[in-house]
Amino acid sequence: MQVTIVGAGVVGLCCAIELLEAGHKVTVVADRQSPRTDSDRAGAIWLPLLSNEDGEEPAGYLDRVASWSRTSWSRLTRLVDSGLGPAAGVRMLRNHELFRTPAEPPPYLPEILSDIQVTDDDRLPAGFEYRWTFATYAFDVPRYLAWLGTSARALGAEVLNGRVGSLDQLAEVPGDTVVNCTGRRAAELFGDPFLRPVKGQLLFHDPIPMTDAFGADEYGVLPGPDACVLGSLFTFDFDDEEPSQADGERIWNEILRWERVADDAVGIPPGLLRRSRIRKVQAGVRPYRVRGVRFEVDSDTLAGRPLIHDYGHGGSGFTFSWGCGRDVAELVTTL
Ligand SMILES: Cc1cc2nc3c(=O)[nH]c(=O)nc-3n(C[C@H](O)[C@H](O)[C@H](O)COP(=O)(O)OP(=O)(O)OC[C@H]3O[C@@H](n4cnc5c(N)ncnc54)[C@H](O)[C@@H]3O)c2cc1C
Repeated sequence: MQVTIVGAGVVGLCCAIELLEAGHKVTVVADRQSPRTDSDRAGAIWLPLLSNEDGEEPAGYLDRVASWSRTSWSRLTRLVDSGLGPAAGVRMLRNHELFRTPAEPPPYLPEILSDIQVTDDDRLPAGFEYRWTFATYAFDVPRYLAWLGTSARALGAEVLNGRVGSLDQLAEVPGDTVVNCTGRRAAELFGDPFLRPVKGQLLFHDPIPMTDAFGADEYGVLPGPDACVLGSLFTFDFDDEEPSQADGERIWNEILRWERVADDAVGIPPGLLRRSRIRKVQAGVRPYRVRGVRFEVDSDTLAGRPLIHDYGHGGSGFTFSWGCGRDVAELVTTL
């Protein structure tokens, strides 16, 4: 089959690779390519988030999240085990999710993360008493997106610059099947009332001698060889890509409180974070959708041709993208 994907963020590119590997011909059309996509403004680690406020996900959605997460995890494991991690910008690290009250992970998480420990801990930064600790994958985002683009092209994808400005223009896009990977901007074409942009912000601090990542509430610390990334906030209904001073202050003040209380305790070694060592501040927008990812075949919009929607991944686009891409490839094969 000849498939056209609209969108070249992490979701569109993983989908392209899955389709190509399944033997299909793929054209990707996008008006923004890396490093100019929303995906380029992410943190990011493998971590499935259902939503950051009460969502309205349909029945059975958790099973889909579990399946997408599992497929992506396997794919990343295969990538790292084959030695391609450094070239692709993917590495494993230990992550701690901190909580103020007891919190159980969803059942599928321990099935994927065989080493996950759920414990109470009286030596966490002030206010936190419980943690989940597990190894996960961290992405060097610019390198990963560049690697996805190069891999898709090497497998034969044609990647074109272009904007699809209306449903009439979408109808003119070539291919037996069209896949919609337009992220938050699906709202422009489809008027989807369930999409709500969620702004985040990242502070890139000089690297610090710390190996583990942390997350709690709407904050996180992701150490790496090039920077220690501090973030990230979930500001609903903001699609502004400009960083804000006030958001930067909120992140800085919260994360300064996360100093560890003893050498072997979870937290940031004292005295390492300094404001003068913040090199870059960047904001980004997550394509959050209150009803979860829109993943379905739409047989009405393009007369006689299926349109597969694959957008609205919120704060989990890097986590779900291989799984959604695999499902698109399986769907196209059966159409
Ligand atoms: C601060 C921050 C931290 C994050 N941390 C994580 C994390 O730790 N883990 C995780 O899994 N996720 C994380 N995310 C979320 C993740 O970044 C998103 O879910 C993901 O990038 C969405 O990818 P996408 O490909 O759907 O969208 P985009 O990257 O926005 O790609 C959309 C593509 O569609 C194209 N397009 C749109 N409309 C049109 C049109 N009309 N015509 C032509 N082309 C069009 C665009 O040009 C672009 O190429 C984070 C996000 C932010 C902002």
